[in-house]
Amino acid sequence: MKIVLATRNKGKTREIKEILKDLKLEILTLNDFPDIPTPIEDGKSFKENALKKARFIAQKLNMPALADDSGIEVEALGKRPGIFSALYAGENATDEENNRKLLRELNDLPLEKRHASYMCVIALVSPAGKEEIFDGNCDGLIALEPKGAGGFGYDPLFFVPEYGKTMAEFPPDIKNRISHRGRALAKLKNKLMASPK
Ligand code: IMP
Repeated sequence: MKIVLATRNKGKTREIKEILKDLKLEILTLNDFPDIPTPIEDGKSFKENALKKARFIAQKLNMPALADDSGIEVEALGKRPGIFSALYAGENATDEENNRKLLRELNDLPLEKRHASYMCVIALVSPAGKEEIFDGNCDGLIALEPKGAGGFGYDPLFFVPEYGKTMAEFPPDIKNRISHRGRALAKLKNKLMASPK
């Protein structure tokens, strides 16, 4: 079965392909369809945005589409940046700019007051309009300085106390096991493996 990931984000794509590799899917992304516009994310929640992206692509391409909407909620910032995580430091912000802004906003708050959660909602939409939703989250603390070179986005600042490391210090298999995305996709895999075609 062919499926399209409704994203051009290389970090997400790499992780989703790795996590789903034993499902025998042919996984395409929007980079395989340069003429298709990037879906608009103007929903008010991760779920709304994930559904909007997956519906748009399933209809445009007449193929099953999978969308990941994800982000980071920082307790001391009233759960910001949340659904705006990609744009936190501005429209075309780089990961480094977002991370610098996060450190600046948290200033000298001590580590124990820097609770954060990664959130992920995955929407799977068929061309006939069947819709399924899977979610996952992962708790951590925002480190005082970036560490590690793996992953993407906020990973160098996302410290996981149980392991004493940031997400960017993990090899991919550990991140994919404990991350918000890994947890949401584990639910999707269970569902797909349990249900007949
Ligand atoms: P989206 O395209 O609106 O879902 O943007 C998600 C944004 O959330 C990304 O650009 C990252 O800034 C952040 N994000 C989501 N998942 C992760 C992750 O696994 N690690 C680090 N940052 C993430």
